[in-house]
Amino acid sequence: MLWNVFLSHSASANETPSRKEILDERMSMYLQFQNEIIPWYYLGAVDQYERNIQAVRSDIPKRDSIIAIQFSKEYWAGAFNPLKDDTSPFTIKYFGGLGQDGNGDGKANRDNDEDIMLTMANYLSQYGPNEEDFKIALWEYYQSEKVVNQIITIAKIFKHYNTINLDTHVFPVPVRGYNYSYRGTWGANRGWGGRRIHEGTDIFTGYSTPVLSTSYGVIEVMGWNEFGGWRVGIRDNHNTYHYYAHLSYFNKKLKVGDIIKPGTLLGGVGSSGYGKEGTSGKFPPHLHYGMYKFNGRTEWAFDPYPSLVQWEKYSKRLSKNK
Ligand SMILES: [Zn+2]
Repeated sequence: MLWNVFLSHSASANETPSRKEILDERMSMYLQFQNEIIPWYYLGAVDQYERNIQAVRSDIPKRDSIIAIQFSKEYWAGAFNPLKDDTSPFTIKYFGGLGQDGNGDGKANRDNDEDIMLTMANYLSQYGPNEEDFKIALWEYYQSEKVVNQIITIAKIFKHYNTINLDTHVFPVPVRGYNYSYRGTWGANRGWGGRRIHEGTDIFTGYSTPVLSTSYGVIEVMGWNEFGGWRVGIRDNHNTYHYYAHLSYFNKKLKVGDIIKPGTLLGGVGSSGYGKEGTSGKFPPHLHYGMYKFNGRTEWAFDPYPSLVQWEKYSKRLSKNK
């Protein structure tokens, strides 16, 4: 039903909408429901966060529509509303529900993208226009510092690039001009990552080979870690945390909080780690690359190898077209 709304705008109603058409439709929805207090990238960040967790959680339904945000029946209709699926804005309001009518059809429909967007925009607007206000609104809604941090990260990236079309990824070392090798060794219990089960992929290459960001993101950590050595941690707009370890140097222009894109130079490959600050040379130089997914409750490591294979192909195509 929701796709019908979308398809009525599209040239060929029989075809599956392209990724670009979906993103355009989504962006126009954010722009339509932003207001003087809540800019589009705050609405977009909440929506993207919800989409990210729905992709990896089996205990919450996936919302197959332009907008991923979904409200509970209690939240929408009011906890004491005898009509759990109430769509009347008047009785919803009477029972303290927050559901709103965003498309002007006189109903507050919990399954309608526009009604959902107005409801979320109104909720967030109550708190005020500053980032601190937005953080408090998010904390009240999600009750989790980690969720607030993830949503703020997405908002920063959306705002900085002024788009939601941010899915490009590249390989973390240059695919031309440097020799490198890597293998899919997920779960091998020997490795240089510093954990009992090796959580990541080791890319072996020479000292000082450039280490590139694979994704858009915000630098969350940058510094020394006993096992990882000089390492960088980057959180992206897909609830993924990217971990680059054992570097020989950092890109001095970067610092924690900076917003970066695929291909940004993070530093150089090295063999730092496994000791006090500055320890190096205890193993052959390589980039340890780890990926962690945040599902709204916990963050766990997953195998980067399949993604690396894809990104390597993409980076090779890119470098050929240059
Ligand atoms: Zn490793």
